[in-house]
Amino acid sequence: MRRPDLCSSTPTQVPGSLRTTTPACTLNVPSEANYTEQLPAGLGARLQEAGVSIPPWRGRPTSTLEKKKRKPQLMEEDESSGALLKPLVFRVDETTPPVVQSVLLERGWNKFDEQEQNAEDWNLYWRTSSFRMTEHINVKPWQQLNHHPGTTKLTRKDCLAKHLKHMRRMYGTSLYQFIPLTFVMPNDYTKFVAEYFQERQMLGTKRSYWICKPAELSRGRGILIFSDFKDFIVDDMYIVQKYISNPLLIGRYKCDLRIYVCVTGFKPLTIYVYQEGLVRFATEKFDLSNLQNNYAHLTNSSINKSGASYEKIKEVIGHGCKWTLSRFFSYLRSWDVDDLLLWKKIHRMVILTILAIAPSVPSAANCFELFGFDILIDDSLKPWLLEVNCSPALTLDCSTDVLKRKLVHDIIDLIYLNGLRNEGREASNTTHRNSNIDAAKSDRGGLDAHDCLPYESLSFTSRMYNKHDSVVEKAVSVHPKAAPASQLEGEMSGQEDFHLSTKEMAQSKPKRRSRHTPHKTLMPYASLFQSHSCKTKTSPRVLSDHGKAPDPQAGNFVLVFPFNEATLGASRNGLNVKRIIQELQKLMNKQHSQVVKNKIKEK
Ligand code: ADP
Repeated sequence: MRRPDLCSSTPTQVPGSLRTTTPACTLNVPSEANYTEQLPAGLGARLQEAGVSIPPWRGRPTSTLEKKKRKPQLMEEDESSGALLKPLVFRVDETTPPVVQSVLLERGWNKFDEQEQNAEDWNLYWRTSSFRMTEHINVKPWQQLNHHPGTTKLTRKDCLAKHLKHMRRMYGTSLYQFIPLTFVMPNDYTKFVAEYFQERQMLGTKRSYWICKPAELSRGRGILIFSDFKDFIVDDMYIVQKYISNPLLIGRYKCDLRIYVCVTGFKPLTIYVYQEGLVRFATEKFDLSNLQNNYAHLTNSSINKSGASYEKIKEVIGHGCKWTLSRFFSYLRSWDVDDLLLWKKIHRMVILTILAIAPSVPSAANCFELFGFDILIDDSLKPWLLEVNCSPALTLDCSTDVLKRKLVHDIIDLIYLNGLRNEGREASNTTHRNSNIDAAKSDRGGLDAHDCLPYESLSFTSRMYNKHDSVVEKAVSVHPKAAPASQLEGEMSGQEDFHLSTKEMAQSKPKRRSRHTPHKTLMPYASLFQSHSCKTKTSPRVLSDHGKAPDPQAGNFVLVFPFNEATLGASRNGLNVKRIIQELQKLMNKQHSQVVKNKIKEK
């Protein structure tokens, strides 16, 4: 059966938000000296009176080509609101992924020049490493940082294991059984030895499998898989974890999912999950008799892209080592798998994981964090959390990776949703905006009728892309007058049987669904907030959004937390984890009874 090949779809460039507006935005770049003089009559004086500082223009002269390409917008007056508008400026360092810079330039942003501009003349600082606490403290109301302090608690494997263990103790194992049994070395050494030998005894002649991973390394470096205790090398700063030896295989290849999650704030906790992602394959067939073969056991693309089989056309998966998540879900649907249920479990896993650290992360304004959740699905379709990455790779290694470009666009839309500033100035140009939407849709890699993910909600999509009207309304001054200074304050278990085994999937031909199943357009969590957000009269998120429901969607990001009124309440004025867990438990019970009902109907 031929499946639509999303990998080969040519990405359409999202033209971004190139804005030119009033005749004031001519191509005459003012010199530093006459910059303020060039402001519309009287505006300079009014701004000074209001105490608004006007960063001098110190950009390099724009070449004719660039002018034609990007038409950078200079300072101007928004006639309706009187607000001061000027180009948004991004700051990067040598670690910033090139795609970030390229997307921001495409959207008409200017690049910050440390030599030429004042230290505070930027709006977004995006880098791979985290920021120092002083950088968080000194962030200005018009600035955003792409990391939140304290998130290593989630992204270091040992810390993650400790936090999830704590949650399991507090709230029960049924919710927190998505992390493989993990021991943190050297502290848990004796516990691990006891567990290992107890299991050996239970299994008799059968083998048990373990994986040893450095707590702080990434990209599959330093990983050891073993079955025999004599192959185990004890080392500090390692975790030893139960090796999931029954992974879901596609064409007999192991895979895992890279899910993108954006936390736009911890106080109040606000979590968005990206509706597209990556499925990363091992490039050699899964074989438990050879644990040393990294190309068969590790799904890191950094490893597999250098393997001999990378370019080969492989059974079912094709060439390369990546699929889009939508292609994966489409594949599952062709096997009659309840992909929506799997997706719900993944959402819940994301929430439960972030809840484990949320109460202990320091408050910080004007920052967000993009996480990469690595999730392995076993042959009973149970998702397992392998790790959480900060600064997930945004390199474009193959055609499937183009979704990362749209991902960056959507992050920018998400964080500036409530205060798009002058980026949205020409959004009222409907033709341009609509072409933007179409381009965005094709760029996101296949959210069409055949390859939609299980949660697409058209109502939300239309709402989002109609936002341009209010974007104009919402455009605000780069230096908001009334802005406060930044403050540093403070599973379902595997009960559902899927009647599907890995072996069946790998060896038989996929069968199409016999009954017609309309594409599900249900978005499991976000619906409650639709009415809220439509009414929302927004001020920029950076100023304050306490008390108001977050927007349900931005591009392919959908809100997964808070997911109802109760969790909205429980995340305001301090995080009430117990209350949130109760709501999750209710949701799980509801979903479980629905699964049972569906099974009875099917019989
Ligand atoms: P890294 O940060 O080095 O990428 P991961 O925890 O993501 O470390 O592990 C790398 C790869 O090893 C994963 O992508 C997955 O293929 C495999 N892996 C990791 N942990 C397990 C596990 N417990 N069971 C099965 N495979 C695993």
